[in-house]
Amino acid sequence: MPQTDFNAPRLFVDAPMSTAAVLELDRDQANYLGNVLRLAPGNTVLVFNGRDGEWQASISGRKRADRLTLLTQVRSQDRQPDLHLVFAPLKHARLDYMVQKAVEMGASALRPVMTRYTQVSRINLERMRANVIEAAEQCGILNLAVVHEPATLAQYLADRDQDRRLLFCDEHAPVENPIAALSAIAAGTSPGIDLLIGPEGGFAEEERNTLLRQAKIYRLSLGPRILRADTAAVAAMTVAQATLGDWAAPCALPAQVAGGG
Ligand code: SAH
Repeated sequence: MPQTDFNAPRLFVDAPMSTAAVLELDRDQANYLGNVLRLAPGNTVLVFNGRDGEWQASISGRKRADRLTLLTQVRSQDRQPDLHLVFAPLKHARLDYMVQKAVEMGASALRPVMTRYTQVSRINLERMRANVIEAAEQCGILNLAVVHEPATLAQYLADRDQDRRLLFCDEHAPVENPIAALSAIAAGTSPGIDLLIGPEGGFAEEERNTLLRQAKIYRLSLGPRILRADTAAVAAMTVAQATLGDWAAPCALPAQVAGGG
C-alpha cells in the first residue's frame, strides 16, 4: 500500500504543476478550504492534476483561500492497469455509486453503452466527471479515469480495439469460478481489458448472440445469484484486479499512461 496521507485535504486542480507554481482555485474549492475545512493562508494541502503526481501546496490567498503555491512533489505520477468499465448507465444514485466504486477499484476509463434494455436515455457526463474527481481526491488516486461519451452497444463493438480482451459479465453464463477462469487467460500481451456490465434488465438474446461472436471475448459468471448492476461492476472489477490487474503480483495487465483513453 503506498504511503498516502489520508488526513490531508486533497484537491484536484487542472493546472500544470511544478515547484513554486501558483494555482488559482475556483470558488467552490476556495469555499471548501476556507469555509468548510476552515483552513487559512499558510496551511498546507495536497493537490494533483492527473499528470504531474501529487504536490504539497501552501494556501496563499490574501483574504480567501483561493490560491495555492506548490512546495514539493510528494508522489510521482503512477500508472494504473488498462482496465475499462463498459456499462449500461443506471439511474442517478446507482450511477454515482458505480462511478465512484469503479474509480476506487482502479478503472482507467468509463464507457457508457446503451443496450436494448437500458432504462436511462440521458447521461450527465459532468456529474460522472465530478464523481470521478471526488473519488480520486478521497482515495489518493492520482490518475483520473477518462469519461467517454455514451455509445450504442453496436457502435462500441464496431469501434472497439479487437486486441483488447472483452470480459462479458453475463447473468446467463454457466456458473464457473471467475478467478480460475481469468487466471487461465494468458498474461501480458494484451493491450488491456474491457469489462462489460449490462443494465438492470439484462442483455437481450440477440445482444448476447452478437457479443458471443466477438473477438477476444470471455463470458464471465459472477456466481449463481443475479447481482444488481452496480454490485456486479464492483464484483467483476474485484476478480479482474485480483487475477490480471494490480492486485495480482506481478500485474498481468499493461499500464495505461496517465490521461490516456
Ligand atoms: N434482469 C436480469 C439481470 C440483470 S443484472 C435478469 O434477471 O436476468 C445486471 C447486469 O449485471 C447483467 O447484465 C450482468 O452484466 C451483471 N450480472 C449480474 N449478475 C451476474 C452474474 N451472476 N454473473 C454475471 N454477470 C452478472
